[in-house]
Amino acid sequence: MAYWNVQPAAQTLAERLAAVRARICGAAERAHRHPAGITLLAVTKMFPAATIADAYALGLREFGENYVQEFAAKAPDVRHLTGTRFHLIGHLQSNKSAIAAELFDCIQTVDSPKLARRLESAGRDLEVMLEVNVSGEAAKSGADPAALRELIAAVRECPHLTLTGLMTMPPWSEDPEAARPHFRRLRALAEQHELRGLSMGMSHDLETAIEEGATCVRVGTALFGARMKA
Ligand SMILES: *Cc1c(COP(=O)(O)O)cnc(C)c1O
Repeated sequence: MAYWNVQPAAQTLAERLAAVRARICGAAERAHRHPAGITLLAVTKMFPAATIADAYALGLREFGENYVQEFAAKAPDVRHLTGTRFHLIGHLQSNKSAIAAELFDCIQTVDSPKLARRLESAGRDLEVMLEVNVSGEAAKSGADPAALRELIAAVRECPHLTLTGLMTMPPWSEDPEAARPHFRRLRALAEQHELRGLSMGMSHDLETAIEEGATCVRVGTALFGARMKA
């Protein structure tokens, strides 16, 4: 079992944050990268607004949420925290795009031209990333790599959307090495399309992701502990 998983539950958020930051720095060092080029996105799904406030007090500013409805309920309690940016990292149905555009600063899961156009029509400036299904798993959301060129062109036709990179979620595996080829593939696609941002890596495989070029790691469990099931 990975060491982050066996840390005593009595650890404070400050201690867990320090441990995650140390892991990020260690991986960056091994990869000869500067840790400042890696955003720690704190994933607060299934945790209350108070958890976001606690993390904010410790200096975290970028937060990831998976569900539009869930974040709509928390947003009134966290909106006043200046300097925060909220990212949607869960699948977005186009019928929820208007509310998502209102709530979030960045949508990391744009996966179709239709969704891009819906977000554009909300009329708010947004950062977007394109979710790519690099593993080809049938049940996964994300765009087919072969459809990326068309998707990028569609997003670039939307003046309110600023495209910053690609995002992926590889098939679940305990073994962080299993994700490496998928991370590598995402990086190759980003290079091919001249995109800089790479949102990849979670609690258990963030080192692998950083070694493969991640610019944003999305970390929930290692910061906040185990989630209740939805
Ligand atoms: C839940 C989630 C995460 C965080 O996962 P942990 O294993 O808890 O760090 C990251 N990315 C996405 C897309 C998620 O849904």
